[in-house]
Amino acid sequence: MKSNRINLILLLFLYSLPFAVLAQNSDPYTFPIRPNKTNFLSGTMGELRSSHFHAGIDIKTGGKIGEPVHATKRGYITRIKVSTSGYGNALYMLHPDGNTSVYAHLDEFAPEIQEYVRQEQYKQQTFEIELFPKPYQFAFKTQEVIGISGNTGGSLGPHLHFEIRDSQQRVLNPLHYGFDEIKDNIPPILQGFAIRPMNINSRISGEFKRTEISINRTGFNYKAIDTLNAIGEIGLELWGHDKLNGSANKNGISIIEVEVNGETLFKQNIDVMSFSLQRHILVHYPYDVKMTDGPRYHKLYIDDGNQLKFYETQSTNGVLHIEKNKLYDVNIKMYDPYGNMSTLELVINGKQSEKFLNNSLDFQLDGIDYTIEENILKIFTISNCEGESEELNLNFGDKIESIKPEYYLNNTAVYLWELKNGIPQSVLNCNKGLNLRSIHEVYPNDYKVISTDKMNLKFSPYSLFDTLYLETDYEIKTNDSLEIFSMGPITTPLKSSVEVELTAIPNHYNPEKSHVYRTDDAGNFTYEGGEWQDEKINFSTRELSDYTILTDSIAPLVKENNGNYSYIIEDELSGIKSYEAKLNGEWILMKYEPKDNLIWIDWLNEEMNKTGEFVLKVTDNAGNETEYITKL
Ligand SMILES: [Zn+2]
Repeated sequence: MKSNRINLILLLFLYSLPFAVLAQNSDPYTFPIRPNKTNFLSGTMGELRSSHFHAGIDIKTGGKIGEPVHATKRGYITRIKVSTSGYGNALYMLHPDGNTSVYAHLDEFAPEIQEYVRQEQYKQQTFEIELFPKPYQFAFKTQEVIGISGNTGGSLGPHLHFEIRDSQQRVLNPLHYGFDEIKDNIPPILQGFAIRPMNINSRISGEFKRTEISINRTGFNYKAIDTLNAIGEIGLELWGHDKLNGSANKNGISIIEVEVNGETLFKQNIDVMSFSLQRHILVHYPYDVKMTDGPRYHKLYIDDGNQLKFYETQSTNGVLHIEKNKLYDVNIKMYDPYGNMSTLELVINGKQSEKFLNNSLDFQLDGIDYTIEENILKIFTISNCEGESEELNLNFGDKIESIKPEYYLNNTAVYLWELKNGIPQSVLNCNKGLNLRSIHEVYPNDYKVISTDKMNLKFSPYSLFDTLYLETDYEIKTNDSLEIFSMGPITTPLKSSVEVELTAIPNHYNPEKSHVYRTDDAGNFTYEGGEWQDEKINFSTRELSDYTILTDSIAPLVKENNGNYSYIIEDELSGIKSYEAKLNGEWILMKYEPKDNLIWIDWLNEEMNKTGEFVLKVTDNAGNETEYITKL
């Protein structure tokens, strides 16, 4: 688990030079929205999003589309993208200093760009398009209008997403370019703090369990209410946000420093970001907490497999080693990009744990149960076997190993077993036994195939951040006879995809219209796809989850919207895959906004004939097609 730490630490120290303020007064950057006036942000650089760090700033546009977007500096357009997802309509502009600025979710481009894009869309017969204009084909001076702000792509409300990237396409923090348009004198706000045991011998208040700490607030100084008892290696985790003047949005905290007994243990400064490492956010924030409906904390330690380069640590990667009878003064400083600071203080007392604890279990225990936390198997039993041994027998097939309880929670005995020392098939205590689900060990950086009766999983050397104890399960739900293929734990993130083959019930599906869908306890279904080969269906996924196979034989719905050459298109199960419109047999451009289920005609020019037979074909992911014919 901890093998490649030394190299990582060397790299970190080489990288951790201070980041200077990059503003150049001779040719400054201009704010792209309402320059020289007060502006407000709804997002800052480095915020923790579900699968990436926010790569720029989100500038508010007064809740509406249509604000002029200004070139931040002179330069020319190098890339234009029109997409129904992600950045929507986006412009990339190269500047003389080698930096590129990015403007996303635009409603429209400047007229000369818009005209060029439309010509190309008609030429290539596609709405979604990516173009790379010639140098100086679209050149702009500082502050010239290059487009109109909007809400296109993955945007959930009108705003401008603005980025500055260096010549290696690394994202820089735009707030270091000295924009007076943004005011911030509010320090970061702490919302939660937690401590996690980092190996099998660690205890926090006697337990092997991630524990959230109660905090008192005085202004922007926070203090843990109680001294905390702990022993062994522990990791600190912090949850909070930053506010800027004049807006209620909760933005990210990018700079956090941890000092223990006056010495720096860990620093992070999310200030420069390589796109290739974006997915490592899944080991930056505690994925298990997020997947069990918690918020995104910052881990104040570098977890196994995390290759992000904006940390500075001592030799322990930020992990704190608590020794018996020692006191640890922990002082944490949080900064926003404007230097406003808040602090958190807590004291950890190195105390050998009691064996009998008054803490109660946080779930209902029916005799015996287990969880897997990281690489530790944690077994709970109600200890009521009088005169019997309190030992738990782990059955490995060829041998049996006995372990004693590590501690008791009232009348519940808690046993811990390091899975790297072997994976038991079952466990037995007095007369209570438990078959463990199918657990398989998979190492990172290696090829591995896991085969069960119902599933085949192919891992590549890139699939995992860390060793995985994969649990597989299969059941047919009785009420709707759905096959559920489970791969877990869902609390473990995948770094890149795993190839999966499911063996389906024979003669039960339609290979043309049946596909794999991800599902959850709430009964949501998300189309994944998949290719049939006899009774097996293959797909790839980046998420350990429950999967099922569903048949979609219902064609998309198409209806006129409000006459204005616009139409509503919807598909209930598999979702819209493509559409094509023709007027009198000629291809015609339709813009598409999936958020509103809306498509509408974008005429090549005003002289174009706008009457005749209009045919709109809409196809879903299962290949069902609706042909809508009308007279315009
Ligand atoms: Zn954004």
